[in-house]
Amino acid sequence: MVRVYGIFGDPIEHTLSPLMHNVAFKVLEMNAVYMPFRVTAENLSGAVQAIRSLELGGVNVTIPHKEAVTAYLDHLQGDALLTRSVNTIVNRDGVLYGYSTDGEGMLLSLQKEAGFSPQGKRVLLLGAGGVARAAAFTLIREGVEELSLVNRTLQRAETLAEQIREKTGFVVRCFTYEDSALPDYLGQLDLVVNGTSVGMYPQTKARPPLPLDKLNPACLICDLVYRPLETELLKDAKKHGLRTLGGLGMLLYQGVLAFQHWTGVEPPEKAMRMVMERFLTEGINQ
Ligand code: NAP
Repeated sequence: MVRVYGIFGDPIEHTLSPLMHNVAFKVLEMNAVYMPFRVTAENLSGAVQAIRSLELGGVNVTIPHKEAVTAYLDHLQGDALLTRSVNTIVNRDGVLYGYSTDGEGMLLSLQKEAGFSPQGKRVLLLGAGGVARAAAFTLIREGVEELSLVNRTLQRAETLAEQIREKTGFVVRCFTYEDSALPDYLGQLDLVVNGTSVGMYPQTKARPPLPLDKLNPACLICDLVYRPLETELLKDAKKHGLRTLGGLGMLLYQGVLAFQHWTGVEPPEKAMRMVMERFLTEGINQ
């Protein structure tokens, strides 16, 4: 019998996850399919119940349900316990396990694609939403020496910093983009991560207002936005001679980890990356 997997979110029509998981099933000749499901907030509990009743193998969860979905699961595992946010649900004989593979996905991308290890590093994270939150907890767990947040809304950064302090004891410094202390601070950084939606399609000409000329030339600029593959931030960073890393790797590795949780099988990473890259550059999905 065909095993069904999917993704719950709203909106859901722009997700690339079906592309990468279906190509993996095809390459591995697995009798399985991955489908996008638009799930509204009021239908979330019913949709989670349907994972059990329809015997789905598992699902990914995306905006806006990553936090709300935790209320309907039987167990939270790993990073999901700390962040109270789930992007992967595994159905083991009707018992639903929630995982968060976002932070680990970012980490694998930093390590494998940029040779970057967070241990002992000074990191600035732009944003204080869901992705920044996952990134922050992973970077702290991996032993960063310093982590600071810049966010348009200072209050949101301070709330995240307080949650981090409560759960890990780690003290995070918060800035707004206008903070007069920010330019001088930039010179000591090893890594800047854009965890905001600034620069994402269709507003591709925008970039976070960071004075790139103040950064240390050895600093790595990682933009978690993957549509477009090369954002305005990355283009400008290259012009300043900085090393750059786009967001496709994080998307790929969070998917690779979800696939491993569902199937226990190593997915074909190369084919998954290729199908998404082709779609993002040429609009081709085969
Ligand atoms: P979110 O929870 O809605 O957070 C959005 C963040 O962007 C907030 O910090 C928000 O600041 C900031 N922001 C939005 N518009 C801004 C503007 N005009 N100027 C300055 N800051 C602005 O979204 P999320 O779930 O964290 O996702 C953020 C982005 O990450 C997505 O858009 C997507 O491109 C990317 N992403 C990548 C992956 C991956 O696998 N690579 C996965 C998921 C998401 P305020 O707090 O001030 O509103």
